[in-house]
Amino acid sequence: MDDAPKVEILLVEDAKFFRSVIKSQIEKQLGFTVTCAETYAQACAIMDARKDDFFLALLDLNLPDAPKGEIVDYVIEKSIPSIVFSGQFNEELRDHLMQQNIIDYVVKDSPASIEYVITTVKRLYNNQSVKVLLADDSKTARFQMHGLLARYKFQILEAADGLEALKILDKNPDIMLVITDYNMPNLDGFELTKKIRTHYSKRELCIIGVSTYGNHALSARFIKVGANDFITKPFLNEEFFCRVSQNVEMLEHIKALEDSLITDYLTGLRNRRYLFERGETMLQDVNNEGGYLIAAMCDIDHFKNINDTYGHDGGDEALKNVAKQMRHFFGDDGIAARFGGEEFCILLKADTLDSLDEKFEALRQGIANLTIDYGNRKINLTMSIGVSWQKVQELDALINIADGNLYEAKKTGRNKVVFDQ
Ligand code: GH3
Ligand code: MG
Ligand code: MG
Repeated sequence: MDDAPKVEILLVEDAKFFRSVIKSQIEKQLGFTVTCAETYAQACAIMDARKDDFFLALLDLNLPDAPKGEIVDYVIEKSIPSIVFSGQFNEELRDHLMQQNIIDYVVKDSPASIEYVITTVKRLYNNQSVKVLLADDSKTARFQMHGLLARYKFQILEAADGLEALKILDKNPDIMLVITDYNMPNLDGFELTKKIRTHYSKRELCIIGVSTYGNHALSARFIKVGANDFITKPFLNEEFFCRVSQNVEMLEHIKALEDSLITDYLTGLRNRRYLFERGETMLQDVNNEGGYLIAAMCDIDHFKNINDTYGHDGGDEALKNVAKQMRHFFGDDGIAARFGGEEFCILLKADTLDSLDEKFEALRQGIANLTIDYGNRKINLTMSIGVSWQKVQELDALINIADGNLYEAKKTGRNKVVFDQ
């Protein structure tokens, strides 16, 4: 993985097979580091030395030197969040564990349980960037749910009524989940849900309504006014976790799907579709507010030769590296998109045309200086660039002029930048 986060997991498990599968799957799928202990004594020694290094502990309940789950107490004492597994769980053990501040438990009875562990670890990691807003007028209820959400590593915001919730949402438009009680002063849970839905669809923000046991009608009404789900008080911690996770996951899937529609699968750059959608808005902005929209059409020189020399996979590797360079140059200021094949397009908004030639000249030079590792071979390439900033009404027109300049660059020797005359 390119940007693997530095996350370390402690895995305490005496069964060699389970230990090695979990370790290798976490390392392969998530890119985290897994430190293993085979016994209670080993695990304690590791935690004594460096308890603060661990994001999470995965614990087998039955260890040769601690057969009664003593490891759980030790890990809790060290304040390391943990997921527990065992060959079997009875009701009593399960209840006992869930009250003990552990995150989850897993029965080791099938390959699916390994997948469940991996998914849960990933969920917890991702939760760190998920904002949840809790709206409830009861301090006790907020305290309880806050405790659970914190255990699952969410970012938590709290509101004591619906109006406060709206204010917080206004300041934090990246909130992904709102958990709301029904009965609140100023603005109740239904009204809050309705108001939120005038700005955010179910695909952008999840709402879970909390209703009280014995009032079934509330649940249905919550859904009718726009909640994605509901939970009935009093609830089991486990159910709360499942519902919250399921809703957040659904939102993440939708987001991933939407991203994939505007992303080029090979290079990770924006695709042509996004370029035209976003580009039209950028053009309107400069036409209304002043400034320039600059378009650059960039095409790799003699790319066919690269495919012929290094094969199609070598060509793909070259494209990925060129894309990285483009992102590096213009990523934050504008859009760098893959236009198709070995052609890229950059759109930039700028107040002046100062130092524009230097900027594109630096890009050309950067690409020419790239040495791309492909197996034990090295690939070098150059790029021709056509740039335009003419005032136009349609994005198409601007891109066509830039394309004409690119053609000029190709015709007059390649590896060069041609600007508007
Ligand atoms: P010029 O300097 O005139 O631009 O010559 P060129 O060879 O770069 O341009 P041409 O358009 O003749 O050939 C582009 C080649 O890029 C042909 C096509 O097979 C290859 N290509 C297009 N998309 C991909 C891709 O996704 N991966 C790889 N490896 N090759 C691709
Ligand atoms: Mg080319
Ligand atoms: Mg081409």
